[in-house]
Amino acid sequence: MSKVIGIDLGTTNSVCAYMDGGEPRVLINEEGQRVTPSVVGFSKSGERFVGDIAKRQMLINPEATIHSVKRFIGRRHREARDDIAKMSCSIVETRDGDIGFEVAERTYGAPEISAMILQKLKRSAEDFLGAAVTDAIITVPAHFTDRQRQATKDAGTIAGLNVVRIINEPTAAALAYLHERRRRATIAVYDFGGGTFDISVVDIDHDVGEVRATRGDNTLGGGDIDNLLVSWLLREVLDEHGIDLSTDKAARQRLRDAAERAKVELSAALETEIHLPFLTATPTGPKHLQRALSRAQFEAMAQPLFDRTLEECRRALADARLTIADIDEVVLVGGSSRIPRIKEMVRDFFERPLNQTFNPDEVVAVGAAIQAGILEGDVKAVTLLDVTSFSLGLEVEGRRMAKLIPKNTVIPAHRSQFVSTVIDNQKTVKVHVLQGESALANENVSLGEFELCGIAPAPRGAPRIEVRFVIDANGILNVGARDSRTGLVGNLTIRAPTGMSTDDLERARGEAIEHEQARARLDDVKEVRHQVERILVALEAMARDQAANLDRAGAHQLEHAIKRGRLALGTASERRPLEDLSAWLRQVQAHMSERLSNRNSSVH
Ligand code: ADP
Ligand code: MG
Repeated sequence: MSKVIGIDLGTTNSVCAYMDGGEPRVLINEEGQRVTPSVVGFSKSGERFVGDIAKRQMLINPEATIHSVKRFIGRRHREARDDIAKMSCSIVETRDGDIGFEVAERTYGAPEISAMILQKLKRSAEDFLGAAVTDAIITVPAHFTDRQRQATKDAGTIAGLNVVRIINEPTAAALAYLHERRRRATIAVYDFGGGTFDISVVDIDHDVGEVRATRGDNTLGGGDIDNLLVSWLLREVLDEHGIDLSTDKAARQRLRDAAERAKVELSAALETEIHLPFLTATPTGPKHLQRALSRAQFEAMAQPLFDRTLEECRRALADARLTIADIDEVVLVGGSSRIPRIKEMVRDFFERPLNQTFNPDEVVAVGAAIQAGILEGDVKAVTLLDVTSFSLGLEVEGRRMAKLIPKNTVIPAHRSQFVSTVIDNQKTVKVHVLQGESALANENVSLGEFELCGIAPAPRGAPRIEVRFVIDANGILNVGARDSRTGLVGNLTIRAPTGMSTDDLERARGEAIEHEQARARLDDVKEVRHQVERILVALEAMARDQAANLDRAGAHQLEHAIKRGRLALGTASERRPLEDLSAWLRQVQAHMSERLSNRNSSVH
């Protein structure tokens, strides 16, 4: 088995880690960074970039740049309206109600965009490790639904990664803690990232950890703080210039960028300046915006969001049937946990000092790598039991939900329930699988349904049909039904709702491979171009610095070669002609060097 890498596929940033001799290490990407922005950008010519370059292009080409794709993965268009409104790129509803990103004259599903990020991480990992990487563990927020987990797995498949396990982000953070400490403790993992907030309570006994409870809000993150600041700046522009910029996408993007920068600065400084020259123009001239923002003002604005995180903490403790006094340590995760006010609030809430030994940006990926080490057998004696974040059940008579697997059940898990017919000689039974906490079926999320047909005629209530729920270690649910008298079976893996059929997946995977090959070819061409350029620069230097040492014929020959070389470099786009050009220029270079050395020796 090749190396299994751990991937924290974040809303804002992604991090990749691996095990090196029993110790987790964070991988360095092609740009030399430990963190890769989860941003995909497209150029006019259809070229695409992932990471830092894409993030930079967001300002100048927001329509063709996709960020926060994790907010959309595995969700339906109608469920994500609020988030869609906040995006600069064009998002459409696909025929089956899913989300489509319209860019570079094509429509991509969220798993396809996520796959582009994964593809880059995979490539970086392969470059770094010098070996092929095929297996990965990917982390997801604890509150991700079945559909979102499945869609994340699909993204891995498209990127050519065999996703051996999906684990919850807080679980990964707890694993990192467990690996380091190996002692008895109950810890709270407070993860405040760019797009989501998660809180989990984990019991650790030396080398066994158990997630007691987990809660989260996937509409609460650093991006929402940025949005608050953007709204404030929009009001300021309206007040000062009487201009409403709320529908001006380019201006909004600049405001967002400035807002985020100001926010990050305020984690270190007590005051910051937001300076946006030429934000827009009217017939009376260009309009600028300049505002000072103090940390105190910022805190006052964002306090309602901060409070919501503590509200979730309170609920998580209640779910775990614990009090604050039971928590031994708090591990902070996610970029937004760097905000001083957050640290202060969390410390006060849990009434204890914070654990700051872990890098909040990296701890989740590190935990995923440790999980990889466990699966590979490199890391021993660490077992972490994960739990379900929602209750799962069946629709039963009276449009009610019968819970088979309650929330916070340790996974993997399986439960069965017998159902029957409600009228005499009923031939089919519908199995409707639900997720959620309400007793009423229609207040919960429908995960899917199937029918068990061909039930032998019998009085109502006589057939005994066993419905079995199985949740695997990834948190993915499989539902089977079996008529115990006839042996008739029906089955449902909750995967269809991701909107990607096996055919779709295969097509997307094929395209991803094609893109990777085209990219490799392009890289080759770029490399040869670079070689040609390098020889040309050397020849140009020769023409400039050695003019006095060359005879007229030689100088003329050199000048001519440079001109021809430049012209050819400007037009050649294929590898072969560039290679020929490179060989020819190399000959010229050798010839000229010889001429020079002959001349020098004849002068002496
Ligand atoms: P995700 O898990 O969503 O990918 P991260 O954990 O990488 O996100 O956190 C990204 C968020 O953290 C962004 O909203 C970013 O603005 C914010 N952030 C990063 N550093 C700081 C900082 N020093 N102060 C405040 N916010 C920060
Ligand atoms: Mg994160």
